[in-house]
Amino acid sequence: MPLTLEVDTARWRDHLKSYAGEHAGIVPVVKGNGYGFGRSVLAAEAAALGSPVLAVGTYDELSSVADFPGETLVLSPWRPGTPTTTGRVVHTVSRLSDLRSLAEEGDRPDVVVEVLTSMRRHGLDPAEIGAAAGLLADVRFRGWALHLPLDGDRLTEARRLADATLTAASGPLWVSHLKPADTATLAGETGTEVRLRVGTALWLGARDAIRASATVLDVHQLQRGDTYGYRQRRAWREGHLVVVAGGTAHGIALQAPTPAATMRQRAIALANGGLEAIGRALSPFVIAGSKRWFAEPPHMQCSMVWLPGGVTPPEIGDEVGVDVRYTTTTFDSVRMIT
Ligand SMILES: *Cc1c(COP(=O)(O)O)cnc(C)c1O
Repeated sequence: MPLTLEVDTARWRDHLKSYAGEHAGIVPVVKGNGYGFGRSVLAAEAAALGSPVLAVGTYDELSSVADFPGETLVLSPWRPGTPTTTGRVVHTVSRLSDLRSLAEEGDRPDVVVEVLTSMRRHGLDPAEIGAAAGLLADVRFRGWALHLPLDGDRLTEARRLADATLTAASGPLWVSHLKPADTATLAGETGTEVRLRVGTALWLGARDAIRASATVLDVHQLQRGDTYGYRQRRAWREGHLVVVAGGTAHGIALQAPTPAATMRQRAIALANGGLEAIGRALSPFVIAGSKRWFAEPPHMQCSMVWLPGGVTPPEIGDEVGVDVRYTTTTFDSVRMIT
């Protein structure tokens, strides 16, 4: 198969089970590209784990997890114009006006009220918590949501907001990006159910259980001076042009920007994309033990990779490793190896 996510199924499921077992009450998040696996694959795994609630990112993603037997929390806040009830759906509300609109609907939708954290993505101003609590009689209040940043003293912030919210109305706390140990601490201190919404650490936590591979589609020998590709570049020495599955449509070489905080991180970012500016970029394709240079920028569904003379080229149909971010890659298939 072209670009494949290979899963060592037993190892992966062992990790899922132990993670879910160690961190009681987690809410598996399946959004976007489904962390490389696809949302419906993950929804089935979440069901097998016995999770009563699943989280998706957007309302548009609900249909892809329709087979999930439990409830589905939508992480993006409800806004006027979004469907209110679809049964088994828990809405996130981030503005007083939206909470009022939902309360006025009359059919008491299930609602989690999000409070703005230092993350500042969505949520009520903490000063509005009391006003929100006054509107909860006309919805099925399912708790408070806190989306914390990845850096900083998250437990202190979570404690402060937990105190402010639970004083106004008791209910579970749905947290994101709190460390599992801090989640347990918060639950203990508040005597409240704390549900950690988690994707990456769950689905991608067992790195050695998953890998990406690409099929070699073609191999051509190049002599010095031969031209190739859309740009008709010239080989500056002899070698091979390896055509591999995986292009821009899969997200190859379109990395999500990384916060390049350290010199080392900047160097890595440069190696992964920045060199495009000077005409060469290191590809994520690993052939004969090394990442190889793109012969030219990736095409829509395949890439041309330069293999220097002296390195034995792979055969057509072989699979080579690909070092990609699973959250930015769209695979053609997921191969569950049993
Ligand atoms: C994506 C998302 C999560 C899950 O994030 P991971 O880093 O993948 O665990 C949790 N909460 C919210 C609000 C999100 O948008």
